Amino acid sequence: MDSPALREALHRLAANHRWAWVASCRDLLASLPGAAQSRHPVTVVADLSAGQLDQLLADEVFVGRVASEAGDLDAALEGLASPQIAYCSPEFGIDALLPQYAGGLGILAGDHLKAAADLHVPLVGIGLFYRNGYFEQQIDDGAQTESYPTIDPVDVGAMDTHVVVRVPLPGRHVAARVWRIDVGRIPLLLLDTHVAENSESDRSIGDRLYGGDRAHRLDQEMVLGVGGARALAALGWDPTVHHLNEGHAGFIALELIDRVISGGDLPAAMSKVRQGLVFTTHTPVPAGIDCFDRDLVVRYLEPWAGRWGVPVEEIWALGLDPDDEHRFNMAALALRLSSRANGVSKLHGEVSRGMFAGTGIGDEITSITNGVHARTWVGADIQATFDEVLGPAWADGDAGAWDQVSAIDDGRLTYLRSSASRRLADVVAVTTGRDLDPDALIIGFARRFAPYKRATLLLHEIERLRDMLGDDGRPVHFVFAGKAHPQDHHGKSLVSEVVSFASSPEANNRFTFVPGYDMRVARALVEGCDIWLNNPIRPREASGTSGEKAALNGGLNCSILDGWWAEMYDGANGWAITSSNDEDPELRDAAEATALIEILGSIRDMYHHDRPVFSERIRHAWRTLGPRVTAARMVRDYMSDIYEPTLNQSRS
Ligand SMILES: *Cc1c(COP(=O)(O)O)cnc(C)c1O
Repeated sequence: MDSPALREALHRLAANHRWAWVASCRDLLASLPGAAQSRHPVTVVADLSAGQLDQLLADEVFVGRVASEAGDLDAALEGLASPQIAYCSPEFGIDALLPQYAGGLGILAGDHLKAAADLHVPLVGIGLFYRNGYFEQQIDDGAQTESYPTIDPVDVGAMDTHVVVRVPLPGRHVAARVWRIDVGRIPLLLLDTHVAENSESDRSIGDRLYGGDRAHRLDQEMVLGVGGARALAALGWDPTVHHLNEGHAGFIALELIDRVISGGDLPAAMSKVRQGLVFTTHTPVPAGIDCFDRDLVVRYLEPWAGRWGVPVEEIWALGLDPDDEHRFNMAALALRLSSRANGVSKLHGEVSRGMFAGTGIGDEITSITNGVHARTWVGADIQATFDEVLGPAWADGDAGAWDQVSAIDDGRLTYLRSSASRRLADVVAVTTGRDLDPDALIIGFARRFAPYKRATLLLHEIERLRDMLGDDGRPVHFVFAGKAHPQDHHGKSLVSEVVSFASSPEANNRFTFVPGYDMRVARALVEGCDIWLNNPIRPREASGTSGEKAALNGGLNCSILDGWWAEMYDGANGWAITSSNDEDPELRDAAEATALIEILGSIRDMYHHDRPVFSERIRHAWRTLGPRVTAARMVRDYMSDIYEPTLNQSRS
């Protein structure tokens, strides 16, 4: 190997985001000169000097590791064929170094691609490239402030496909360049409107994820849906199934109808398109769904009506909101044009059937419970232990493998857990300058600060909380993190409340808010916390996934019986916070806060006085949850319940 060949080999390893879950590859890239936790490995490789490359070449062990990782990558890419399933999502959370996600929806999409890569599902991802990402959170004077990075696709491993698609918007066309990001064997196509031929304002359509006003959002969704379908066609791909991850990409359905409609027969075209469309809904809250006012959206629908020779009312009716005749509802559009639809937990499926009853087809909604990509979210030490004791199939959710957890004895378990807590303490110290006692019972809470998640619920029991934090004999330490959407003033006030409590004398330095919640902070937290707290207003948490990440790492869930936990809690694999039936939100919150603080007290006592019982609970949680919470299980369910039947029906 000479130095251009070495640079090329390293670039290939850095540009394929398989390193996001293959620890040996990530460690190799992290060992390069100039590597830092905030730098994408592609830029690290690009910046290697000739001298540095020569030095690396002289290191036989290093060159051997590069060759071995390159061989593994080749093997992972073997037998690639054109994708048959297009997975369309407004956000993708692949890694903190590719900041194209806001929260759970995006992380789920990233985990879906990774599991599809592991399982060789022929899938392609479709999304937008946001030049300013979501936002980075800082805390200034006790309040959240936002800053936006500038991201060049090339610096995060995107490859130019040299395809530019054009999307008709009212009065003009917008061009979007198609970038390709590799996620193992799964290509992810991201459309980028920062193209010279666009007007200045059109260039910024893809600036910020979930930024701007309604018209801006509509422009983004037109580029995502219409542009996404055109990007696939321009690359010569013709997937049989289009999977809409939430309704944002719903316009893809209209673009597909446009291709097959003839003689103005919309119903016939719809039934053709419906054969290949599937839809996953992610929110049980009507306000959480993307809707557009009639005056705004009709201008976007008119060109289709003109071309098809149908009244615009017919297209309008496809997205008609079941609860408001002046709104166009993207989830309703997706639902009416899909042959299969699902919610993301059993309870959420039930709630969704009620919520979409007004469309007349709500009762067809089934459910597939969300899972998390094990090798992305489980700490390196625990992965190594699982590989050795359970065998590598644990990461695919193999129940036989998980049955072997009894072989991990108390000593080993305590050692693994306390090293994870110490690593969290290091991250907390570096990020906040504050100490975290790794021997305390560490209780974590990290998620978007959407008000329904009730980040401040505990503060309703301020006196008992203060007593708990002041108890030096049985120490507990709370670690909180999370961002509020920049336009969500209520959410931002919750961040301020938590930050203010954390720095108050009452918190006794045992309550820490970690700013800048992202996948890196999330990983440190789900690895290092002993207890994972989740207290949404039931049943508003469609699934939730952070608790699944914690569970795989041996963190025990203490949660309202909502989302995934409602179906997986068995009385002994964690704790349930009793929900109140009180109609009055204040009384309900007060009752649930009391239930919560009482459980936390008994968990603390078990942790400090009955460690063997606590350890057995962790093993029991692994045994019962390990087979059910992985993204591998989830993608297998999508294969058997959604993709395969859809592929078969389209073939026949
Ligand atoms: C897992 C994850 C989420 C989703 O957490 P929920 O429990 O579903 O709220 C959000 N953000 C990040 C960065 C995550 O890693």
